[in-house]
Amino acid sequence: MSIIYGPVPSRRLGFSLGVDIVPFKTCTLDCIYCQLGRTTLRTVRRREYIGKKDVLKEIRKCLRNHKFIDYITFAGSGEPTLNPGIGGIIAGIKEMTDTPVAVLTNGTLLYRRDVRRDLLGADLVVPSLDSATVRGFGKINRPYSSLDVGRIIDGIVKFRREYKGKLWLEIMFVKGYNDTDAEIDGLRKAVKAIKPDRVHLNTVVRPPAEEFAGIVGKVRMKNIAKKIGKECDIICDVKWKNSELFIDDLRETMMDIIKRRPVTVRDLSLSLGVKKGEVVKNFLVLEKLGMIKVEKKNNKTFLKEKKNG
Ligand code: SF4
Repeated sequence: MSIIYGPVPSRRLGFSLGVDIVPFKTCTLDCIYCQLGRTTLRTVRRREYIGKKDVLKEIRKCLRNHKFIDYITFAGSGEPTLNPGIGGIIAGIKEMTDTPVAVLTNGTLLYRRDVRRDLLGADLVVPSLDSATVRGFGKINRPYSSLDVGRIIDGIVKFRREYKGKLWLEIMFVKGYNDTDAEIDGLRKAVKAIKPDRVHLNTVVRPPAEEFAGIVGKVRMKNIAKKIGKECDIICDVKWKNSELFIDDLRETMMDIIKRRPVTVRDLSLSLGVKKGEVVKNFLVLEKLGMIKVEKKNNKTFLKEKKNG
């Protein structure tokens, strides 16, 4: 299995070097919206699938080849905290570079003291929580049998208290599942208890594991954001296809990425999950508007921000 991927541009993290320390697809959950497909190994057993030495060797190699990395991000083929080596790997990265470390986790193991301790060295932790009710959690996240949503929320609250870095909570909304008033109220209370720095609201814009996992419309999403609180951002990379908002958001997202540093059409297509043709169409508009320019380097075409004045 490949341990490192990217760096890939992402709206939230800039250029992010992905670190994948569990085999495909090993997770404590089997979310109906998972863009990786169904979980093949649903487990809560922590196991050193890949050793610290191998991971650090790969990261060191990548850091030599890529100068511009905004985050080293644990994510990928499943739940990264299932590898008990994660704490040691984070410590090893910190000895090697100043590049900040992010962990994208489903938060289900944060009730365990050892998992909370392992993540203390990260600069940013992004746990997800899609429902605060037993029913919603069961239906959306299809958890390993021993997992209890109340205990998970308590674990995230404890982690927030112990951890000094940035914590962003991510909530994925699935039409007809957690977009009801009762579900939103439960999530609002959980957010209040957790006190994250930001709350990122998302909906099913990428192909889900189950076809029945549907997208929540823009009006409802905005409404949900208001109910949950002022620290909320709606972060779907590509929203509400075939609407004007989709086009506006796509261009805005492209500009967010291009402003950080020059990118190729392929970079944008991969990170935004849209076809290359769609990216080209929109970059031509941005070029016409005088917002970006094209530059060739090492036989590659890069899109750059055009600074006026
Ligand atoms: S927690 Fe993440 S990786 Fe695991 S099933 Fe859910 S979306 Fe997929």
